[in-house]
Amino acid sequence: MTATIVKTNPRTGETLYTLQEPTPEALAATMERACAAAAVIKNMPVEARLDECRKLKRYLIAHKEDLVAGIVAENGKCVTDALIGDIFTCLDLITHYEKHAPKILQDEAVPTPTLLMGKKSKIMYCPLGPVLVISPWNYPLNTSLTPALCAFIAGNPVIIKPSEWTPMRGILDRVLTESGFLKDGIQVVFGGRETGQQLIDLRPAKIFFTGSVRGGKAILTQAAQHLIPVELELGGKDPLIVFEDANLERAVNGAVWGALNNTGQGCTSAERCFVHDSIFDTFVERLKEKFGALSTPDTKTEDGGALDMGCMTTPFQLDIVRTQVDAARAAGATVWQAYEPKQGSTTYPPTIVTKVTPGMAAQCEETFGPAITVVPFKTEAEAIALANDTPYGLSSSVWTRDLAKADRVARQIEAGNVCINDVMSSEGNTALPFGGVKQSGIGRYKGVVGLHTFCNMKSVMTDKGAKNAELNWYPYTPEKYQLFLKIVDVAFLGGLTGLLKLAPVGMKADSLVKKLSK
Ligand code: NAD
Repeated sequence: MTATIVKTNPRTGETLYTLQEPTPEALAATMERACAAAAVIKNMPVEARLDECRKLKRYLIAHKEDLVAGIVAENGKCVTDALIGDIFTCLDLITHYEKHAPKILQDEAVPTPTLLMGKKSKIMYCPLGPVLVISPWNYPLNTSLTPALCAFIAGNPVIIKPSEWTPMRGILDRVLTESGFLKDGIQVVFGGRETGQQLIDLRPAKIFFTGSVRGGKAILTQAAQHLIPVELELGGKDPLIVFEDANLERAVNGAVWGALNNTGQGCTSAERCFVHDSIFDTFVERLKEKFGALSTPDTKTEDGGALDMGCMTTPFQLDIVRTQVDAARAAGATVWQAYEPKQGSTTYPPTIVTKVTPGMAAQCEETFGPAITVVPFKTEAEAIALANDTPYGLSSSVWTRDLAKADRVARQIEAGNVCINDVMSSEGNTALPFGGVKQSGIGRYKGVVGLHTFCNMKSVMTDKGAKNAELNWYPYTPEKYQLFLKIVDVAFLGGLTGLLKLAPVGMKADSLVKKLSK
């Protein structure tokens, strides 16, 4: 008997639907369909794959408001976050690759060294086969569809296993079928962790995982048994560094949005603010004013674009945020909240924590909710050290009018992404690769690498085949060895001198090959 998932609306508690997890037989059939689709998709020209994505694009645009309503019911976010964070992002990705994918995926000629004269070298970007995308609940459409589309455009069929907290039944599946997207090009399997584990054991060609560090480690361990390549997009504890010369109003506004959009449930949410000593008090006061002015489901019932934040999507995440904040307060931190947390509510108030110490969970563990810490610093070096004092390395931001300083600091921050005088914007440009360092993940997607990562990068070397043999082939002779010694002396000199010295050795090598391979 497989497990049942009861999906409720996190804001209202209403049951939306119940799901039965698939049987092992159903999962095997899904993988078989993906393998059959692989044979079709790999032979489709890139433009034909993009035509399929265009169908999706048209559907997403035409049904945006319906889809927003569905995402809000699944996740509890506000409509603006659903439209921008989930729908806009998918449309933007498709539009980017419509323009760039044909070039990114075409054969790429690379230089051939003089010693291999007469040969040609190139890279073919070939599909891998079925790709498994395992996604989280915070951006349930975006984190499912964007990697799936990258994999599909690169020529692979995809199986998406969305989070059991936001299965998106009737949304993800509907988008794919009603848009007329290629059948079995992207399939969706609803289920939890065990369903994910069973899918891994069916040996997809690649796994693209977005989720927690704990989940990422488990997936990496299981995938290692089959040597399946894995890409991991994991959590973060992103720093926001504000120097004394920053545009303060912009930095405060950026911190507010960076900390609270998507209810702070973003992998690249700003969670730790480091503010120069000289502007620290003003910054915190402005932050309080702006946090206090935002609406949440506790303070406003209607949305229609007027709501600033949603509720927490899962009870366990609400618990993590509450526990971190309470523990910080108990350990001597100062906690400011926009309002007193409401008993029984799934919404958590915008929260600022100051006077934290590095060991407090609120300062060193991912919070993934609407709470931010603010810590003063005195020097550039101290700011960098504080920002890097974390096991995570996903995104970050630096706020200063001195762009040379910003560049210098950006170079030293241990993160996959840095925004200068901006927040969460680098991931808004599909041309830029996205991913983390340290415990924030392995690999990158989006940009050029976003398609190449789903390819078998095949190295191809072509010789016309006129000569009977090559110098380095058998037979090995003392004469050949002497020639190799000369080659080692001159081949790596470089420049015109190197070329002039190599030419007679090359001619000698040519005649020796002819003589020995008759
Ligand atoms: P999670 O790791 O609990 O689950 C993510 C997905 O993995 C779910 O679909 C789940 O069913 C599946 N899963 C978990 N363990 C598994 C296993 N052992 N085998 C197979 N499948 C398994 O994470 P979550 O709570 O859903 O998501 C929140 C986390 O995701 C946060 O840490 C957040 O920072 C991170 N996240 C990262 C990015 C990014 O791009 N780096 C984006 C969004 C969210």
